[in-house]
Amino acid sequence: MKAKSTAISALQERVFIILKGKKLFLQSTKLSVKELKDAIYVSNALRNWFDVAKDYASFVDDFSGYKPNPIPDWAYEPVYCSWYPYEDNINEKIIWENARIAKEVGIGTFLIDAGWNTERRGEWSWIDGRYGDYIPCSSKFPDFKGLIKRMQRELGLKVEVWFAPFWLGSESETYKKGLKEARCKVLEGGERVDNINLCPQNPLTIKRIEEIVRYFFEELGVDGVWVDFVDSLPWECSAQHEHIYQTIGEGATACLERLYKTAISIRPDAVIEYRIFHGNLNTKRFLNVQETTDTPHNYDDNRRLGVYVRAFAKGVVVKTDPTMWSAKCPPEEVAKHCATMIMGGVPAFSLDLPSLPQSHLKILSAYLSFYKKHRDALLKGNFRPLTALPSFPINIIEVRESFLYIGYEAVPPITIPDGCEELYIFNCTERDTLSFPFKGMEKFKKMVVYNEYLEEIKESTLSPKESLFSVSVPIGGMVRLTR
Ligand SMILES: [Zn+2]
Repeated sequence: MKAKSTAISALQERVFIILKGKKLFLQSTKLSVKELKDAIYVSNALRNWFDVAKDYASFVDDFSGYKPNPIPDWAYEPVYCSWYPYEDNINEKIIWENARIAKEVGIGTFLIDAGWNTERRGEWSWIDGRYGDYIPCSSKFPDFKGLIKRMQRELGLKVEVWFAPFWLGSESETYKKGLKEARCKVLEGGERVDNINLCPQNPLTIKRIEEIVRYFFEELGVDGVWVDFVDSLPWECSAQHEHIYQTIGEGATACLERLYKTAISIRPDAVIEYRIFHGNLNTKRFLNVQETTDTPHNYDDNRRLGVYVRAFAKGVVVKTDPTMWSAKCPPEEVAKHCATMIMGGVPAFSLDLPSLPQSHLKILSAYLSFYKKHRDALLKGNFRPLTALPSFPINIIEVRESFLYIGYEAVPPITIPDGCEELYIFNCTERDTLSFPFKGMEKFKKMVVYNEYLEEIKESTLSPKESLFSVSVPIGGMVRLTR
């Protein structure tokens, strides 16, 4: 945030002190890593909110002694997720058929989402459901371990499984066999009411989480886990059972640390993935991939959340929520999904692949090839939103190879830095023409236009005096400018 220096001076006189340069904290905080206290971060630097948010995140990282976790190379592989087209109605046939096509189009990681461990009963979040055992459902997966091994060995995929570490439904065997007493209770109208979550403050919970993670990596042989619904924990627990941690937050932090350390001790190149609500500046010590959150059908929302995540995600891999579309989706819209994904971080898809027409697979394959070829530049270049519009429809990634995403017709003047040798511009608008003032356009000599299949359709030479970029580009297509 920005504030005028006079306002800051006034605040300083009352409740603020300067700790470091232009960063101010409430005097009462006396910052300590062992205590939780409210503070307000203020910057009077003339920078946009995205850079200030990144500065704030770096300040907290430095203060808390954050050190990034190892990131295996496979964490950057495009991801397939089974959730949106099938929800918990998955089985061995569905997973294998999708895995086979996923591999063909360029996916490297396959996430088997919720439903691998229970029958389909629509019970996936029910307190009296069967979640919590994390044993493969034999009627749907007669040989789950064998399936994972085949996906790894025959298809060369990395395999992750979904789990919600604290959930324990009352129909689960784990609940019946003794963990009943470890569940949280919350106060409602003066009554203690059961909650679906194991209590993070109770000593049985941290042991149970370690047991599940050991089973995943040692028995099932998975490569990574997708950690879900930590954000469903209650604010406090009123159960009359033992608490070895003072608060839900302290207990949850200890459990997540155990989860991460157990996984890494068994698989040093494991991927541990959270989504936005429980992946934050506190918990990023215990993960290496950070996702947005559920935005099915809506890549605009996915992109918006991705920009927020990027601001706070130094040291971790940013991944988008898997995007989805149906077999009836027009090709240009499929291409816009794909362009949005590759500009958002590690691209992820949740599709009924066997039902899609060849045209869709061709577009997906082309965009994933593009992603792989330019992966380092896309993920490690300097990402900036170029407008303050809430959906961040115009973004750039700057490095020697730069990438400009345009999802809105009113484009502000674009300035390309001197070091940029090549510029790729994605047309994700509703129109087949891109037009905007372009400072530095004279640096580029050649232009190639691609359609939504990323096939070259036109090549031309640029005039050195041009300063307005105005080019016909198919919707979902791309332009490449070179010097
Ligand atoms: Zn408790």
